[in-house]
Amino acid sequence: MPFRALDKENNSKISYELTPSEYRQEWRCPYCPSKFSFVNTQTKTKHFRHLVKGTYHTEPETKEHLELKRYIYENLKVKYRVEYEYKIGDRIIDVVVFLNEENMIGIECQVSSISLNEVEERNKNYESNNTFPIWILYPKYYLRKQLDNFKYYRLKIIERELRNSKWLFYYDPKLEILRRNMFEAKYVESDFVIYSDDYNTYYADDYECETIFSISDFEIFTPIELVDEACKYLNLYSKTRSDMELDNGRELTRQDLELEE
Ligand SMILES: [Zn+2]
Repeated sequence: MPFRALDKENNSKISYELTPSEYRQEWRCPYCPSKFSFVNTQTKTKHFRHLVKGTYHTEPETKEHLELKRYIYENLKVKYRVEYEYKIGDRIIDVVVFLNEENMIGIECQVSSISLNEVEERNKNYESNNTFPIWILYPKYYLRKQLDNFKYYRLKIIERELRNSKWLFYYDPKLEILRRNMFEAKYVESDFVIYSDDYNTYYADDYECETIFSISDFEIFTPIELVDEACKYLNLYSKTRSDMELDNGRELTRQDLELEE
């Protein structure tokens, strides 16, 4: 369910920005020979759909996935040059931020299940293409609460493995903000340990234990603050700004100049 398609003149268009007179025309996928149809739903989730199925780059997307992608894109475009569904190496990333001619930040919006292996493969692919990956999880599937004690969470593999990374975030759909959670692990003896790859089962002294987590601390970010922080981390801040000013044709404000000093 992409937001972006090409029209007959090869212009890149965003589904929810179209006016009704533009809906009915020949749309194409930017990445494969398939034609697109325009799917007119609620204002926020208008999207395109492949007319020919089975292309490798179409993932099952949901309303939540579109919502998260749109939240990131719309908030970032105020300051950064962004693009939906951009091809990096052999993958299509949900939202890409162009920092300069060489460097990009790739933002993956993850709503459904994904294996750690897949995450690592994608990160490797992005990094070898000058793209710094950031993962944002949607808490419908992730950040699952422990049923008998709401203070604790049972984390999926990707959450557990990346929980010490600075670049894993959760979207809070109610507050429309991003959270970086710090987790504390706790091992509990468990009557029902679920034997699934998706959950960690811990064996200690013949007891079957399960790892559950509590949130010990968290930070909140807007999408712009998140990208600002990544730029600082990558040491690309000042270069980015000047490139961006050129791209957007926006004049430097006094505040911008003060920031750059
Ligand atoms: Zn396609």
